Amino acid sequence: EKAEIGLIGLGVMGSNLALNIAEKGHPVAVFNRTTSRTGEFFEAAGNLREMIVPCTTLQDLAASIRPPRAIIIMVAAGQAVDEQIAALRSVLSDGDIVIDAGNANFRDTIRRFSELKDSGLTFIGMGVSGGEEGARHGPSIMVGGPRDAYARVEKVLTDISAKYEGEPCAAWLGPDGAGHFVKTIHNGIEYADMQMIAEIYGVLRDGLGMQPKEIGAVFDEWNKGRLNSYLIEITGKVLAADDPQTGKPMVDMILDRAGQKGTGKWSAIEAQTLGVSATAIEAAVSARILSSLKDERLAAEKAYAISDLPKFSGDRQAILRDLELALFAGKIAAYAQGFAVMDAASKQFDWRLPMPTIAKIWRAGCIIRSQFLGTLAEAFQQSGTLPNLLMAPAFIDMMKEAHPSLRRILARAAEAGLPMPAMSSALAYFDSYRQGRGTSNLIQAQRDFFGAHGFERIDAKGAFHGPWGDSG
Ligand code: NDP
Repeated sequence: EKAEIGLIGLGVMGSNLALNIAEKGHPVAVFNRTTSRTGEFFEAAGNLREMIVPCTTLQDLAASIRPPRAIIIMVAAGQAVDEQIAALRSVLSDGDIVIDAGNANFRDTIRRFSELKDSGLTFIGMGVSGGEEGARHGPSIMVGGPRDAYARVEKVLTDISAKYEGEPCAAWLGPDGAGHFVKTIHNGIEYADMQMIAEIYGVLRDGLGMQPKEIGAVFDEWNKGRLNSYLIEITGKVLAADDPQTGKPMVDMILDRAGQKGTGKWSAIEAQTLGVSATAIEAAVSARILSSLKDERLAAEKAYAISDLPKFSGDRQAILRDLELALFAGKIAAYAQGFAVMDAASKQFDWRLPMPTIAKIWRAGCIIRSQFLGTLAEAFQQSGTLPNLLMAPAFIDMMKEAHPSLRRILARAAEAGLPMPAMSSALAYFDSYRQGRGTSNLIQAQRDFFGAHGFERIDAKGAFHGPWGDSG
């Protein structure tokens, strides 16, 4: 019997995906560049071994899969993917499907589509979210490529995906780079979510002087309400954990320097390229950049020696309630931005991204999974097209309830000297978006003054210049 599907790359994600595929009853042929890893993987697969065909050459891999073949590549993003595709070309036949399941930049995916266009091979760019655990037991899967090619792998992908109330969290989202683009924005939103949670942690730790376990209990409590989500849940767990070496809270022993692999940055870059404001996502990327300057920050703390700022004081229960609502308001703004970026990309690349479907396949399996995404999916379904999530009736109600808390928290944080870059950006975005008359009339006047760029008038159509005379 031939394998239903092939998989290349038995690293963290690939090995877990392969076990997931095997467990769902689909025979899978696997290959890894370092062949010793293939053997180790097979040995450790236990009773799933009967569903796994370990291969030491690509010829062997190709011969083990039923045609038209479908092969998932799950290797390090970038050059390695191009090398794998090139190597596969000589062993595959017309009609076979190559699926890049790594975190590709969607612009690379589009390039690979055009490179493979006349090769006889079909390409699919597939975003996978959920980390190691998701890959093993059910990730969220975002597919881009030819729709008919998706039909060949749909059964396997929906079987291995996470389920939300029985509905698979896997879907075909559009042609070429659509899947990888949506995965990128998923990660951009994830950056914003994580940063805003960290900012709230900062207020609880430095504004209210709370200990990690107390803070963890607050997140555990919030996880029962409107903030219910995977990231809030794991935050509570992280804050409860002790360091086995020192016995101190684990989080206190971790250096405050965040890593990043690029998807957050790509989200910010693509937002700017598309002309969409995604400030909370940008702020989250910037915050990771500033976090990396540990030594400079220590020196600056000494140089400024600010110690006389007012602390957060007053009714702790009221402050905690405000923090919960403030985080919720920030989350709404960040998701509004992420979906606005996808909307613009959808139009620019003619993808027709199905927004309700995207919200639905993010309800389980992926890192940003939450109760909130269910509300979001409903809003998109009820409203059809929305200029911005902030204009969905349900979101207007939620934001009206939550924004006063965001203001109060940010005002006090500013006085206390506690940085909340993503949350501040979220409020500034909201206030700019809901301000019918802004201040760009002045920008236009300045531009016309120094560059004769012209401006529009409020009382007449056309382009005009101001009475600046020779001073411009
Ligand atoms: P790992 O580092 O665990 O594994 C990397 C794999 O890529 C190994 O199988 C390695 O083979 C292979 N590889 C690296 N370079 C080459 C090359 N030049 N030619 C052939 N094979 C190569 O990575 P992950 O499993 O974490 O990540 C894989 C992909 O999944 C990445 O795109 C990542 O961004 C994405 N991803 C990761 C998530 C995570 O939580 N880790 C979540 C979602 C997506 P060898 O054993 O020979 O070195």
